Amino acid sequence: MRVLYVSTEVHPALKTGGLADVNAALPGALAGIGVDVALLLPGFPALMEAASGRGAPVRLGPAGGCDQVSLVPCRLGGMPAWLLDAPALYDRPGNPYLGPDGHDWPDNARRFALLGWAAARFADGGIGGWRPDIVHGHDWHAGLAAAYLRARGGAVPGSVFTVHNLAYQGSFPATTFPQLDLPPHFFSMQGLEFHGAVNFMKAGLFYADRVTTVSPTYAREIQTAEHGFGMEGLLRSRAGALSGILNGVDNAEWNPARDRALAAPFSADDPGGKALCRKALRAEMGLDPARGPLFGVVSRMTAQKGLDLLLEAMPAIAAIDGQVAMLGSGDVALEAAWQLAAASHPGRVAVKRGYDEALAHRIFGGADIIAVPSRFEPCGLTQMYGLLYGALPLVRNTGGLADTVREAGRAGAGAPADPAATGNGFVFDLPRAADLSAAIERAGALWQSPAAWRAVQQAGMRGDFGWGKAAGRYAALYRQIRPAA
Ligand code: ADP
Repeated sequence: MRVLYVSTEVHPALKTGGLADVNAALPGALAGIGVDVALLLPGFPALMEAASGRGAPVRLGPAGGCDQVSLVPCRLGGMPAWLLDAPALYDRPGNPYLGPDGHDWPDNARRFALLGWAAARFADGGIGGWRPDIVHGHDWHAGLAAAYLRARGGAVPGSVFTVHNLAYQGSFPATTFPQLDLPPHFFSMQGLEFHGAVNFMKAGLFYADRVTTVSPTYAREIQTAEHGFGMEGLLRSRAGALSGILNGVDNAEWNPARDRALAAPFSADDPGGKALCRKALRAEMGLDPARGPLFGVVSRMTAQKGLDLLLEAMPAIAAIDGQVAMLGSGDVALEAAWQLAAASHPGRVAVKRGYDEALAHRIFGGADIIAVPSRFEPCGLTQMYGLLYGALPLVRNTGGLADTVREAGRAGAGAPADPAATGNGFVFDLPRAADLSAAIERAGALWQSPAAWRAVQQAGMRGDFGWGKAAGRYAALYRQIRPAA
């Protein structure tokens, strides 16, 4: 089974979010079970630099407004890869999607259409003598791959499209359609047109043989008006081709026993180092010693992540003598609100703005609780990192959070006799500060019973979040589409 894996970012070379972590681990897990995977990514400078063993470029000719476009064979993160070399479109430093002004690059339609177009060029086997059985695109940037394959017609590879976040759709004015060089009838409701615009996400959802998303709960949620971003009707009509496959964790990268970013290693069998990590984190972030739990947050700062709710719930954190160590960047108003919270709670709330991979590891290592109060969350990785690092996740009951975290702190009638035996964190239902505050109270109550807390922590640290299960499910899906491969 040969799979062309089409995406845009790979940790550690280039990362803006969880997609990069997925792309660094899933292809290797697929290769581990015998799938012949090659990556296709735009030739962004950071990826070009990280590539090793470059071979002779394969010229594809003029395309996407560029005089010459080529594919550079190489290895990236241990995987065979092709980098799409079109300097006029990709040779720009920094964020792969945004210019230095923080706005989308104005030619993003052209930039990511070329990625889909290049993916479809593999269909005839003329590139490196390698013809994929499946082209697997990830998020809107790769959405047009399935459309270009359909436009070629004939015996083309099968296609899978994975939604990592439906909120980002790649929507462009109708005037961009002629640039795409697709048949005119593709610009219709039965195609990639969405409310009069060209929509790359819709192209993937509409034209791919199978659509997946990154957790079973999110696969159900996106078929509803609340979470469907207008695509719910289309997704319901494709329900038979839609499934949710939960992301995993790269255990080589996220293992507190071997994590060199931490002040001290620790594990479920030997948890002593966790206390040192907490102490070091408090010192690093300028937090006072305290008796209550230390809440960690590592997050993009967007409305999606519900960090405004956490600000509103600050009195509940204070009531249990808790503290917050936050690392994040994004929305300017949210960043400012958190800076203000830090200034008004010195020694209790510490905020580091920016992107810092090593500090992220130290927050998971040092925190007692990882807060992920997202309004929606396709999968979420940080709650799983928290579980593995002995930080109990406190999450909203949505998407992948709902699929990975079970309530451990609910006391009273109907609760299991030993809540620690069944739960691994704290879960609240509605995106309201009151519900979040109640979950914080439950966390505070469990914190009062150190033995029960440790039992919950142990359950999390011993959890299996490896990529093996997911890889097996993707491989089964590929076989459904191409049983003979
Ligand atoms: P999303 O992809 O929506 O941002 P995920 O939970 O799936 O959310 O993945 C987020 C990834 O980005 C995790 O690896 C997390 O540790 C990392 N991350 C988020 N913000 C930062 C930051 N400011 N500094 C370092 N890592 C971050």
